[in-house]
Order: sequence, then structure tokens, then C-alpha cells
Amino acid sequence: MHSAPTTQSPWLDFERQSWPSLKKDFQCEVAVVGAGISGVATLYFLLTTTEKYVALFDKSTVASGATGYNAGLAVSYIERPVSELVNEFGWELTKQAFSEMDDAWETLLTIQETIGGQVNLVPFSAATFGFDSIQAFNHFVEQEQIQAALGRANWRYWAQDDETIKEQILEPIKSYVEFVSPQQIIDTLKTVDRKYIAAAVRSTPIKGARINSAKLCYQILSYLQKHFAERFVVYEHTEIMQVELYPTESILHHPHGSIHAKDLILCTNGYTGINIIEGESLKPHGKLASGIIPKEGFMAASTDGALENYAAAFINTREMYADVPYWYLSHAPLCNEGKSRFMLIGGPEYDLPQSCPPELREQYAKAGMEVIKQFLSHTFDKEISRFDYFWSGVMGYTHNGLRWVGPDTHYPHLWYNLGCNGIGIVPAIGGAKRLAKQLQGADLGSSLFDPPKIRDARDLSP
Ligand SMILES: Cc1cc2nc3c(=O)[nH]c(=O)nc-3n(C[C@H](O)[C@H](O)[C@H](O)COP(=O)(O)OP(=O)(O)OC[C@H]3O[C@@H](n4cnc5c(N)ncnc54)[C@H](O)[C@@H]3O)c2cc1C
Repeated sequence: MHSAPTTQSPWLDFERQSWPSLKKDFQCEVAVVGAGISGVATLYFLLTTTEKYVALFDKSTVASGATGYNAGLAVSYIERPVSELVNEFGWELTKQAFSEMDDAWETLLTIQETIGGQVNLVPFSAATFGFDSIQAFNHFVEQEQIQAALGRANWRYWAQDDETIKEQILEPIKSYVEFVSPQQIIDTLKTVDRKYIAAAVRSTPIKGARINSAKLCYQILSYLQKHFAERFVVYEHTEIMQVELYPTESILHHPHGSIHAKDLILCTNGYTGINIIEGESLKPHGKLASGIIPKEGFMAASTDGALENYAAAFINTREMYADVPYWYLSHAPLCNEGKSRFMLIGGPEYDLPQSCPPELREQYAKAGMEVIKQFLSHTFDKEISRFDYFWSGVMGYTHNGLRWVGPDTHYPHLWYNLGCNGIGIVPAIGGAKRLAKQLQGADLGSSLFDPPKIRDARDLSP
């Protein structure tokens, strides 16, 4: 029997500060649960824009969740077809959501500057999408045209100069498409796989960069220690097992005592293990447990000869790779300090049942690694027997594919900044900024990111 591939992330490969665990009862104005990028960014905005005393808790260590195990692509994006968002929420709210994402990207740059320079942000100079079917290409161009109408930058679209392909391109988008030789598409995508018949290409300016979001968390915390040490504490290895909700506060239970917090902010991403109950009726409050679907995503990295920093995605609809919604790759140094260049690749993801036996996770890891190797072999003729890094992280998908940011609809002192849906680094920062304003009483109106009105799992059933 083969042993499971060992999982190691490149993002946590640096000397990290540690914090104590909480061994007693405790009281604070605001408790933030989850010390990934969502929790740390939330702490940052609460300290820099309010006078509140804040405590940050993690059941493991800072950035030990998806923040330490992702693909490191900082992008200002919402991972749902924009046409669906416009149909469901209307033009104005959709536009506002995208402009919040763009603002979050700028905020990320400002935070980097404030805390001490662009230490680990490596900008991309180009990005490409490859398509193996015209249907997927049509869909992409249609969506991007709506995005362009919302004021976002446009792509260049290339399809093979071939009559059968031309016929399949939808009339309304034909005028945006340039018809080029098959070789141009293959060369642009830097692939050897001739099944790719269309591409979308973007060069500067791109709101996209490789980032080590784990390192960013540690950098933010070190900045906060210098400037706001008297107003916050961090406790690692402190699992919040149960929460009792009351109209004016929450009581959080950890292995060594309880925490009284006026406001509780959940930044727990795909981890739904907290038992949340309504304190007066002792009924379960099932919004988190029933509203978040955990998935495990797998990634690999190996050193790379590419000289340009660029990101690439491949949408495969004709020849499906099992459990891969799409492939995402990036080529760049791991961070500005490092000289070695790495290709990172991700795509495989698997549903995680509530209690996932270790054998199942081992199966996922093996399947994830195999399918990545298969894709690299077909697409780039790269035979990799061993990756420098191979890792996985837990994502929290919400039912509608949108982040939850803001207060609970039934308990106004319970807040959420969670739900990554695969693209969560920049949205976590946007969410933190929005939430800090709401917590100070600002009425920001309704948003795509409003937490759902459900109270427990039964409300989700049709
Ligand atoms: C394979 C993969 C690739 C990805 N690629 C990208 C990408 O390229 N670009 C992008 O933008 N996003 C990407 N993401 C998503 C992104 O990494 C996440 O959205 C983001 O890191 C989530 O941050 P977070 O702070 O919300 O959650 P996490 O980093 O998961 O943090 C949640 C924290 O909560 C803690 N916690 C949970 N329950 C409890 C409890 N009961 N008590 C105390 N602590 C608790 C956990 O220990 C954890 O540290 C990817 C994710 C994965 C898994």
C-alpha cells in the first residue's frame, strides 16, 4: 500500500511568532474567532478605526487554515457568474459589490505600505485563460462584457481562425473576438495541448499578484503589537467549542473556561464545528453549520524556469478532469525576498463531510496529486515525479457562493466575515473593512454579502 502524499505548504516556511493559549475565564468587548486573513484583517480594522478592546482566538495557530494553504493569488474578483448576480440582485448592488472588491485590492496595497512595504506582494504582468470548448469561451466573453459594463478592465479574446469555430461564436460577442492561428493560441497559453481553441489574454494593468497571505497575517499582527498592544490579545490553541447567544452578548466556551463578549465575530471559514445555541431557548442556531459547505482544495508547487510573473487558468469542459472545476496556475517567486521561481498549480477539490475519516482525506490527497500530474503532463509535457511542495486547505463555500459580511439577522451582536468560495484573500480584507464600519453603527444599506436570513438548517429546506 502506498502512503499518502505528505502535505507541506510553501507559505508557512518562515520563522513564526507564537501566542499563548487561554487557560481561564475571560471578558472582552469584541471576540474574533479564527486567525486567518479574515480574522486578522478584522482585528486590524477594529484597532485602527475604533477604540474597542479586541481578542482574537484560534483553535490552532495564526494562518493555520486556508490562509496558510492557498494558491496565493490576490485578485479583486467574485467567483460567481456576474450575469447571475445581476439577475438576482440587480445592476446597482452588483456594481457596488465589485467596486468594494476593487477598493479591497487598493486597501491591501495600503495595508502593505502601512505595515512596512510590499514585502510579499509579487505583481503579475500578464494573465491568460485557455478554453477547450467554444461554449465555455462564449460564456466567459459574455460574463466579461458585463464586467466591462460595470467599469472593470476588459480582456482580449482570441479564437482559432476556423469556419466551424466562427459559426459557434455567439453573434453579440463576435465583434470582440480576434481570429488568430491555432499556433498563436497554443504559444500564448504556453501549452503543448492542441485541444485549446480559444484564449482570453490580459496584460497590465492587472489587479492581481502572488501573495503569501499567511506572512501578511504575521506582519499585520507585528505592526498591531507596535501600535495597539494595549487594546488586543491573541490566543492560539484555544478552540471555541460552544457559543451561547443572548440578545446583548455571547458566551463562548473553550476547554479551560468561558469568555463573555459583547460582540462576537466569526471568521471561521469552512470550519463549522462550533456548537452555536440560542441561550434563552437552548435551541441550536444552525446558520453556520447548515449554511457553509466545507471543501478541501489541493495544490502543488515546483521550481520553474519561466521568467515572467504571470497567472494562467484553463477551463476544460470537453475532457473533464474529475473534481476539478478549473485549473489555476501562477509563475513567480514565492515572495519578493526569495530568488527561486515557482510554478503553483491547483484545481482539484472535494466535499468534506462533517466528520471526515483520515482515510478519506488520504484518498483525496492521492487523487488530487495524480490528477495534477496528469494535467501537467497533457498540458505542458511536464513529467513531475515529486513536487517541491504539495498541500491542501479547507474552503468554506456558502449556499449562494457569496461571502457573508455583517451582523446575524436574529442576533445583532453576532457577526460574520467568512465564506471564501475559492477566492477569499482580497474579499476577506474588503469584508473586514465593511464590518468594522457596520460595528460602529454605519448603515451601509443592503449588499450581496449580507448574511442570509435563515435561523437554522430547516429554513434552508425548500
Ligand atoms: C487550495 C486553496 C487555494 C486557494 N487559492 C486562493 C487564491 O488563489 N486566491 C484567493 O483569494 N483565495 C484562495 N483561496 C481561499 C483563501 O485562502 C481563503 O478564502 C482565505 O485564506 C480564508 O481566510 P479565512 O481567514 O477566512 O479562513 P482560514 O484561513 O481558514 O482561517 C480560519 C481560522 O479559523 C480557525 N477556527 C476555526 N474554527 C475555530 C474554532 N472553533 N475555535 C477557534 N478557531 C477556529 C481555524 O483554525 C483557522 O485558522 C484558496 C483556498 C484553498 C484551500
